[in-house]
Amino acid sequence: MSYKRVLLKISGEQLAGQYEGGIDAELGAWLADEVKKVAGDGIDIVIMVGGGNFARGAQLAGHGIKRVTADQIGMLGTMMNALALNDIFEDRGLQSRCLSNIFAQQVAEPFVHRLAEKHLAKKRVVIVAGGIGRPYLTTDTAAVSLALELSCDVVLKATKVDGVFNVDPATNQDAIKYDEISADDAVSDPAVRVMDKAALGLALEHKLPIIVFDALKPGNILLAATGKTAGTIIRP
Ligand code: UDP
Repeated sequence: MSYKRVLLKISGEQLAGQYEGGIDAELGAWLADEVKKVAGDGIDIVIMVGGGNFARGAQLAGHGIKRVTADQIGMLGTMMNALALNDIFEDRGLQSRCLSNIFAQQVAEPFVHRLAEKHLAKKRVVIVAGGIGRPYLTTDTAAVSLALELSCDVVLKATKVDGVFNVDPATNQDAIKYDEISADDAVSDPAVRVMDKAALGLALEHKLPIIVFDALKPGNILLAATGKTAGTIIRP
C-alpha cells in the first residue's frame, strides 16, 4: 500500500555524510535523486531536517549559554541544512521550497499552513527549517507535529541503523530487529531510543505510524514511502 503523503525526517548527522560536521553536498545530491523517485510515484513529500551537524541545544547549553539560546542556535542549524538541501534539490531538477518556522524572511518563505499546502498541491517538495520554532523540542517531535498538521500518512524516520532493535546493534552483534512494534511498546520500552519519547507519544496519541529505516541505502526511501518492507514500522 503506497502512502499519498509522507514526512521524511533526516538528521543533521546524516546530512554531514562523510564529514564530522557541516553538509556533505554530494550526499545531498544522492538524496535528491532518491527523493525524486518518490515524487515520480506521485507521492507528496514533506521534509523535516535536523541540525545536529551544527548544534544541539541540550549539549550546547551551559557556561553562560542559556538553554533557550542554545536551542535557538540549534534551530538556526536546521535552517542551514534546509537551505542547502533546497538548492541541491532544485539543482537536481526536483521542485522544492524551503519554509521556515523561525522568522527569517530574507532567506526563506515563512511556514504558513496554507502556503505549505499550496506548494504540495503543485507537487513541490516542502522542506521545513527551524523545527517547530520553539525551544525545548527536537526535530523528531517537530516532525510528528508537522506530519499531523499537513495530514501526512506516515513519518519516515531515517536512522543510521535499519530499524528498531531489542538492544543497541552498534554494540551487540546478536541484536534482533523488529519488523513491527506497537507504539505503546515503543513509548514504554526504555531500550527503544531511535526517537524521543515526546515524538513517539504524540504519534501514538494521534494514531500516526512511523517507519524507522536506513534512508542512506539505495531505494529504501521509495520502499518505505510505498509501504513495502524497509526497517521497522511503529504501529499506533
Ligand atoms: N530545536 C528546537 N526546537 C525545535 C527543533 C529543534 O529547539 O522545534 C533545536 C534543539 O536544540 C535541537 C536542535 O535544534 O537539539 C537541532 O535539532 P535536532 O537535535 O533534533 O537535530 P538532529 O539530531 O535530528 O540532527
